[in-house]
Amino acid sequence: MPCCGLCQYETNKLVRIQSVRLGSMKWSLNGFILLFICIMMLWNRKYQEFDLVVSSVTTKVKGVAQTHLPGVGDMVWDGVDYSGPSQDKNSFFVVTNVIVTKNQKQGKCPEVPRIGRSCRTDRDCERGAWDQQSHGIQTGSCVKFDVLTKTCEVSAWCPIEKKGNPPRPALLAAAENFTVLIKNNIRFPAFNFIRRNILPTMNGPYLRSCQRVNDPLCPIFRLGDIVREAGEKFSEMAIEGGVIGILIKWECNLDWLMQRCLPKYSFRRLDEKESNKTLYPGLNFRYAKYNTVNGVEERTLYKAFGIRFDVMVFGQAGKFSFIQLIIYIGSTLSYYALTTILIDWLIGTSCYSAEVGQNYSEKKVESVQDKQKCILCVSHVDENNILLVKRSLKKSLQDIKPTSVQPRKEDAGHLRAVLSLLQSGVGANHDAQPPLDRKPDPNTKPCRPAWCKCDHCAPSSVPQEELCCRRSVGTCITSSPLFEQLVLRRSLLEAVLQYRDPLSSLADRGQTATLRHCAYRQYISWRFGVPPNDTHPVIPSCCVWRVREEYPSPDGQYSGFRPVRIASMQACQMESCERSVST
Ligand code: ZN
Ligand code: ZN
Repeated sequence: MPCCGLCQYETNKLVRIQSVRLGSMKWSLNGFILLFICIMMLWNRKYQEFDLVVSSVTTKVKGVAQTHLPGVGDMVWDGVDYSGPSQDKNSFFVVTNVIVTKNQKQGKCPEVPRIGRSCRTDRDCERGAWDQQSHGIQTGSCVKFDVLTKTCEVSAWCPIEKKGNPPRPALLAAAENFTVLIKNNIRFPAFNFIRRNILPTMNGPYLRSCQRVNDPLCPIFRLGDIVREAGEKFSEMAIEGGVIGILIKWECNLDWLMQRCLPKYSFRRLDEKESNKTLYPGLNFRYAKYNTVNGVEERTLYKAFGIRFDVMVFGQAGKFSFIQLIIYIGSTLSYYALTTILIDWLIGTSCYSAEVGQNYSEKKVESVQDKQKCILCVSHVDENNILLVKRSLKKSLQDIKPTSVQPRKEDAGHLRAVLSLLQSGVGANHDAQPPLDRKPDPNTKPCRPAWCKCDHCAPSSVPQEELCCRRSVGTCITSSPLFEQLVLRRSLLEAVLQYRDPLSSLADRGQTATLRHCAYRQYISWRFGVPPNDTHPVIPSCCVWRVREEYPSPDGQYSGFRPVRIASMQACQMESCERSVST
């Protein structure tokens, strides 16, 4: 019945190796992998579904400091003063150093020398000119800046801010002792879970007294502690200013038994300290406070240096999910293949017993040769092993270098039959032709070709037929009495044929072609035993000619070398000897 692919199922064929060593290795490797998978699952909570945090942050800085500002006098700073004019979302700013220029009015005054070029006469100044660094627009006059220098006059807020570098030490270094309360509300939308960093257990007295040093969950921080934990020195950072990150990490486990959801604070400087030293260091900006004196608008200009604290919240929450667990288990199954890979590698290499390994791989791997890549096998009488040779259409078979050498595998059945035959001594007595009496006719035998070592081979036009029974010079195998007894003897061949086909007539068995083919088979069983898989045994030229001499074709025509797969030969063994390697 023709069958399509729909009604078929293919599955893999397995090889089971009975070995305590390999078995225990397999189980210990699998156990190790299982242990690894379980540890990874618990460690990384692979059985959980995760959701990222959504959060909002508000801050409140508290603290008071008194400073002495040059040209202004003593001044007390409270939260309103040092927090700067504006507050960003998720960040707060604390002024730590300041340059104050009081009572600026709209008017004309000399530009500061480090920005405007110094001048000698009015011709050096251009009316209406300005550049990025200017404080105002040039009027075109050259005026005295101080006793020594003259600079171009500008229309600007006068007097112009003179000092460039921030004062050292920082005027508001006392900000180190200011505190900040950080309020952080978080939410994990997937689990509908809400929490804040001020925990339900924290009450008023607790918040007033808690310190980060003793309690890592305390939501009130001293600015000096924050900067110190970020690896900086507050007094140094206060001079030029900078940016500090306050990182709040929420790593929550929302599983029933192990519920845990607490914030973890850490601090880091965000602006690069090293590059700050050279160009545009720190963090500063200007702001002004305006007032009107006698109808004239005046302003006090502040250049404020300070530290900006950015609060960043990140984290995730996990909760048991059956689907995640299944996905994780599925993704780890491939790890078990490592056991197979490792043990196969071990068997394949010489780490394991080489002999046993060879046995396993023969059982495990079934090699199929491409029809084009015809591998021939050759057996010489003066060599124990069987040589595997690639078929060549140019070089004579005798001269081709073997691709591999394999030990002879004895055909046990044939060997037993032969031995009992030889022991019973049925040898020469019953033979119609006495052995060794049929010398080849010197007229019909062609002269010896160069590749022949035994002096009995005949030249051939086919390179595959150019094979001698020997590798080195010596006696030919056909001159052995065994050759007569095992290959040529008619009574033996007839007995073999009758054994294979018990009902065949004597006339059928007596046909010379049948006997000839059977003799070839006898030779192969004798000399090759069981030939290696997917190889074609080749009978040496001398033997072929000796058999042909004994059982000649009436028309003198022979089909010559024709490689036949040994597997198919064995399959049709019971039918006839017809399909032989050489006919
Ligand atoms: Zn020869
Ligand atoms: Zn020979």
